[in-house]
Parts: sequence; structure tokens; C-alpha cells
Amino acid sequence: MQERLEEIRSQALEAIKSASSDKDLENIKVRVLGRKGEVTLVLKAIGKLSAEERPKVGLLANRLKKDLEAAINARKKALKDVHVSTFIPGLDPTLPGRQRRLGRLHPITQVMNQICAVFERMGFIVVQGPEVELDFYNFEALNIPPDHPARDMQDTFYIDDKVLLRTHTSPIQIRAMERQQPPIRVIAPGKVYRCDSDITHTPMFHQVEGLMVDRDVSFAGLKGVLTAFVQQIFDSNTLVRFRPSFFPFTEPSAEIDIQCVICKGKGCRICSQTGWLEVLGAGMVHPEVFRHVGYDTEEFSGFAFGLGVERIAMLKFGIDDIRLFYDNDLRFLHQF
Ligand SMILES: [Zn+2]
Repeated sequence: MQERLEEIRSQALEAIKSASSDKDLENIKVRVLGRKGEVTLVLKAIGKLSAEERPKVGLLANRLKKDLEAAINARKKALKDVHVSTFIPGLDPTLPGRQRRLGRLHPITQVMNQICAVFERMGFIVVQGPEVELDFYNFEALNIPPDHPARDMQDTFYIDDKVLLRTHTSPIQIRAMERQQPPIRVIAPGKVYRCDSDITHTPMFHQVEGLMVDRDVSFAGLKGVLTAFVQQIFDSNTLVRFRPSFFPFTEPSAEIDIQCVICKGKGCRICSQTGWLEVLGAGMVHPEVFRHVGYDTEEFSGFAFGLGVERIAMLKFGIDDIRLFYDNDLRFLHQF
């Protein structure tokens, strides 16, 4: 049987060498390797061999199959190359081709998707809102009336007196609450705009906003959700601390720090030697906000939080200049 295989090999190789078209090669393939081909017949008859010989012949037959397939493909390519060079003078088909690079998601989009996925696993639903927003949703309904100092903190791009580019994703909270009564559990990613530009600020950046309202929603629940989030985005041992803070639309409010991911709390340039990095703002939804959307403040409570996607991406990837994300330099973008 081994002799038979050798015979098939030499005949087939001869035929492949003298084949002059793809069709010839296909015919050879069917005759030798097809369902009723010569090699297949040998493989079928293998059962009749002694237990000792079976694996040997099987191995040889399979090796033959591979070799012949390779020989057929090589001949096909050679025929094609001859073809091309005959018809296009000066073309050298043996030169390596130009590599075409594949596109991929921008690092900010990747991180934003990861952030949303973590909250989706905790039962939050992704919602969106308009980037061109009414003053009412961006400020007033969030307990920031016209003369409130918080308006100066956010250098707003106004379109006219009542219309602006949203300065945060928080207006999506208001729109979500207007649409439905509690329970509500939403996460709102998106672009926001502020008139600001340096190594940690760009005029357009991304935020993710979260809101949960129901009966008996507590600050402890907020701590649980955000600690779980941080530990899934960074690593499961990341320490988290809550510091009292102020936002007009939450009371009480907190800023959330994580132990510095660069120095692990020892103190470095990135964390200004404190060992901590601020990553989130959060708090219990202010009753004034509920009043604007007609929620019963006696019955329901809720928490809200917001974070900057660029900030998280910079910490995750160890990048110290936010502008790199938007320079469109492929050498930079290709690292992610
Ligand atoms: Zn540090």
C-alpha cells in the first residue's frame, strides 16, 4: 500500500507540473483527492491492514494529501503570475504587495464601550440625548438657575440665549426622567463641549452619566455600584475613597478617588504626590431636580454620577496629554 501511495504521488506531481490551466488542476484534484479519488480509496481500504501498519499508512496518505494540495496551489499561482506578466509588461508579480491596514475603534470609543458594558451588566440601560441642548435641560432643571455661579465654572458655547452645546451629559438624566416614572436605571454616554483647551482639556470631550431612581435607593447603594465599576475597569484590588464635594444637582455630593494606578499610592507626578486620582463625581439626586420632572420626593430617592471618558482612558493607557487622542496620528492610534 505504501508503494501504491508513492506511485500516486509521482504520477500526480507529474500531471500538476504539466497542467496549463486552473481547469486541468481542478480535474487532477478531483481524480486524486476527490471523494472517489485515488488517495481517498487508499484511506478507505486502511481498515483491512494490520493494527501495526494502519497508523503508518494513514500518516503517509495524509501527508501526501497535504503535499499535493500545496503543489496544486503553487502551480495555480505560478500560472496566474505568468498570465499577469504576459499581459502587463514591466509588472513583476513577485514583488511584495503593499500592506493594507485595517481600521479599528478609536481608543476613546473602546473605553466608552467598556464603561457602558460594566454598567449594563449591573442592569443599567444605555440612553442618549441631543448635543445641541436647551438651557433648561443643561442648567435650570439641574438646579442651576440663571445667576448660579456654577454656570461660570463651565465655559459654555452658547448658540443663542436659550440654546447651547451641552456642557455635560447630565441633561440626559432630566430627559430620561421626563419620559418615565421610577424605577429608572440609565447610563448615558456622549460628547460634551466646553470652551477650554490645554494638556488635560479639549473643547470636545466625552462623559458617561448614570442615574438610578427607585424606592429606598441609598448612598450605600451608590458606593457599591461605583466601587464595583472602578474595580472592573481598573483592577479588582483598586482602592476607592469618597470625599465630600458640591454639585448643584446632588445632595449630599461626593468626589470619588481611586488609588493612583501609576504609583499604587506611593505618590508620583501623575497623582501630584497624593497617591490618589479623582475619577468620578456623584451624589444623591437633589429634591429640586425631582421637582422639575414631577417625581414624588417623599416616595422616591436616587443617585447620579458622572465621569470623564478621556480621563479614564489616560489613566488606563498611561497617556499624559489628552490632545494625542484627537491629533489623528495613526502611529499613536494603532497602539490600541
Ligand atoms: Zn501616583
